[in-house]
Amino acid sequence: MAIRKILNGNHAALRSKAVPVKKINRAVTALLEDMAETMYAYKGVGLAAPQIGITRQLIVLDPGEERLIKLINPRLVEMEGEELAVEGCLSIPGVYGEVPRATRVLVEALDPGAKPRRIEATGFFARILQHEIDHLQGILFVDRAVRFLDPEEGSEEKQI
Ligand code: ZN
Repeated sequence: MAIRKILNGNHAALRSKAVPVKKINRAVTALLEDMAETMYAYKGVGLAAPQIGITRQLIVLDPGEERLIKLINPRLVEMEGEELAVEGCLSIPGVYGEVPRATRVLVEALDPGAKPRRIEATGFFARILQHEIDHLQGILFVDRAVRFLDPEEGSEEKQI
């Protein structure tokens, strides 16, 4: 396991479309482990592979209580409602904004054992999933923010 360097938002990898993972092998599971270690080291609650320069469809997140989730080829299959809340991003340190997101989502993905998973999430958990899946499309939260906060209003707990 290793802590990887998180790229900043101007890097081309963060504006590229990530490609699906075709074969889940040891390299993929090791990469997911590095991503989890990196996310915790930076005190984030989510991380997408493009943030460490790898344009593959891999995300990790922890919506709380050390519940680590590793997903391969995640996609949003249902989105419902809309709510506005503050978020930030490990790739854009110090910037926070209010971003509209669906209140409830259903995500389909594979887990590291190549088993299909369906995850239903609401609130901040749903927000993290939408933020990470956006990263796989080259979309950053600043693209969707409707208002940016003054620096002292931000909270590092919301870096996704
Ligand atoms: Zn982010």
